[in-house]
Amino acid sequence: MPLLAHVIALRPTPAQVTLFLKAAGCARLAYHWGLAQWNREYQAGGKPNWMALQKAFVARIDADVPFMREVPSSAYAQPFRHLHQAFQRFFAGNARTPRFKAKHRDQPSFKAGKVRCGDQHIILPVIGAVRSTEAPRWAGRVVSSTVRADADRWIITILCEVAEEEAQPPPSPPTTAGIGIDLGLRTFASCSDGRQFQAPRPLRCHAKRQRRPSRRLSRRQAGSRRRQKARRRVARLHRRIRTIRSAFLHPLATSLARDSHVLVIEDLHISGMLANHHLARAISDAGWYEFRRQLTYKCARYGRTLLAAHTFYPTSKLCCQCGNHNPALTLADTVYECTVCGNRMDRDINAARNLSPLARRGIDARGERTALASAGCLPVLPARRSVNPGARTRVTNDLAELSVGSRD
Ligand SMILES: [Zn+2]
Repeated sequence: MPLLAHVIALRPTPAQVTLFLKAAGCARLAYHWGLAQWNREYQAGGKPNWMALQKAFVARIDADVPFMREVPSSAYAQPFRHLHQAFQRFFAGNARTPRFKAKHRDQPSFKAGKVRCGDQHIILPVIGAVRSTEAPRWAGRVVSSTVRADADRWIITILCEVAEEEAQPPPSPPTTAGIGIDLGLRTFASCSDGRQFQAPRPLRCHAKRQRRPSRRLSRRQAGSRRRQKARRRVARLHRRIRTIRSAFLHPLATSLARDSHVLVIEDLHISGMLANHHLARAISDAGWYEFRRQLTYKCARYGRTLLAAHTFYPTSKLCCQCGNHNPALTLADTVYECTVCGNRMDRDINAARNLSPLARRGIDARGERTALASAGCLPVLPARRSVNPGARTRVTNDLAELSVGSRD
């Protein structure tokens, strides 16, 4: 059964905030105890086992750390599993050695275990009912839950096991067969059907407002109270920007994924573009990576095909009506003007229209990788996590990589 996560903001009372912080502290303490023990056993030539460590720790709670009983048992039990996972990643060569966490740098978080959800509250084990901002959107068996601090808010993530039909809501019949989507800096997204979506202005304006507080933060003395205060302020601003961005991206990605059978995006060479300092801030601010990530999993969930045209597919310089190539077009041109057929339209819409024929070819060649590759695009699939580095699944969107052989 598929797993889906609710992310819900909590409205704890001041007393509950204290309990949350206590629980996060207990989680850190348990992790540190486990890590120290692990290192000791390892140096003594032993083979540490996380379940044995967890058992040993829990057996000592009443004698040594009785305050642990004030928080959910998952808060101090789950860190041992995390320790195990951290070492697995380390042994697989995917991460560095697990280290001790610094209290002042750690984001407070803890596992809350099996919670029960009401419409306006969530019942946490031991802690009790905490007011929440929204009701869960689907029913299912709660697998685990995590409470964490996000600047001045507390967020709970509830992982549920959901029935197949509920996880994959029957998508409404798509209104269009194929659509091309061009991502830009002036206009966030332009579609081949002429629709354009502007990123919310607050994003830019908040980015500006953030500059002064972050400068102030960097001037504050390390470890001082005023530095803490400045840091909280910057964190709040960051959270706000994040919230505005996701409130824009999520509905957009959802509606685009629902409306079409096949979607074609450009395989933007984003890291290369970030090297251009004049554009770097604007690009990283735009949230293309996040948009693409959302489109990818939403298309997979609704059974749509998402294709990426390869990096060198000429989208902006071709005329979408006659196919004439206009090499003189620069980044500053906002309107595409064709000298051959007289076509005059928004530069980004012209680019999106150049992508949509790929969608048509993508429909013909559904699923056939090589056929798609010769059409100039490749399917984008959600990345799967793997513990074994040798079998690490990589999402291949690179044509060069595909032509070398079946590397993935
Ligand atoms: Zn033309």
